[in-house]
Amino acid sequence: ESFDDDSGQAVTGKMVAALRSLGFDGVFDTDFAADLTIMEEAAELMNRIQNGGRLPMLTSCCPGWINFFEHEFADLLDVPSSCKSPQQMFGAIAKSYYAKKMNIDPKNMVVVSVMPCLAKKYEAARAEMHSDVDIVISTREVAKMIKEAGIHFNSLQDEDFDNFMGESSGAGVIFGVTGGVMEAALRTAYEWITSETLDNVDFNLVRGLDGIREATIQIKDMEVKAAIASGLGNARTLLTKIRNGEADYQIIEIMACPGGCIDGGGQPYMHGHYEILDRRANALYEEDRNKAIRKSHENPSIIKLYEEFLDKPNSPIAHELLHTHYHCKECD
Ligand code: SF4
Repeated sequence: ESFDDDSGQAVTGKMVAALRSLGFDGVFDTDFAADLTIMEEAAELMNRIQNGGRLPMLTSCCPGWINFFEHEFADLLDVPSSCKSPQQMFGAIAKSYYAKKMNIDPKNMVVVSVMPCLAKKYEAARAEMHSDVDIVISTREVAKMIKEAGIHFNSLQDEDFDNFMGESSGAGVIFGVTGGVMEAALRTAYEWITSETLDNVDFNLVRGLDGIREATIQIKDMEVKAAIASGLGNARTLLTKIRNGEADYQIIEIMACPGGCIDGGGQPYMHGHYEILDRRANALYEEDRNKAIRKSHENPSIIKLYEEFLDKPNSPIAHELLHTHYHCKECD
């Protein structure tokens, strides 16, 4: 959209080429870290369900809603997942495992995120994130940089991400649309709980752009009650239900922006054109459908990362690098 192309087109390969032309030494895929988030989040959810932990568990990859929650619902600090967001998990792995593998001193690395989101700038600056990510630029900002550098974006040939953190599943791709984190988590949780292959990975029940959606997912003889909210007014409605003991969900996904990150504050302006949101969402679902791997736990780079470094989801080292905690913002 920033380059006067139709909305709803995946231009991932051109973006990689443009970032290399701008001079970045390596260009990696945040969706790789979205897969990693699912590994940690699905393990945490199973642990809470099987061991009588705090339910519902709320997804934690949206810093816009986490900030809102820390101000307005600090009596519920134990409900969000302790997982860092994909952005922060990426930075933590880049400066530990990847740095070691490539023999780079992490002090000499500058990790730059390109995000749909302005709240990601605030998230990267949180003290408990330990400078995982150094600089965050928005979609609009990177488009401006590309134009200023005189790169003719639409003529670029597609390029692939660098290895090793450049490989992602379709589950990682759909994080960008409301319901996507939930769907990605369900694909993995289903197979882990049942030890059976999930043939139809499309959880259409959790899709759509309505502000609040509910779904009951049957996982063998277990019913998982899920709710999805996008937009902070809708988040407030769900959080008030939890506070009042009226919510019997196991998992809730919340995204601060209506429709999710496809409508993020750092994206090209759409001025209320909701058909553009639809096109952006459809582009993500199409990319998911076209991926050879559509479940996070089947991403070969993720499997290797656990084999060589993290051991297993929620291991002590995974907790040290990939998990966080929250504060009451009105209590200081
Ligand atoms: Fe950022 Fe909005 Fe996405 Fe939340 S939903 S991560 S605030 S773009």
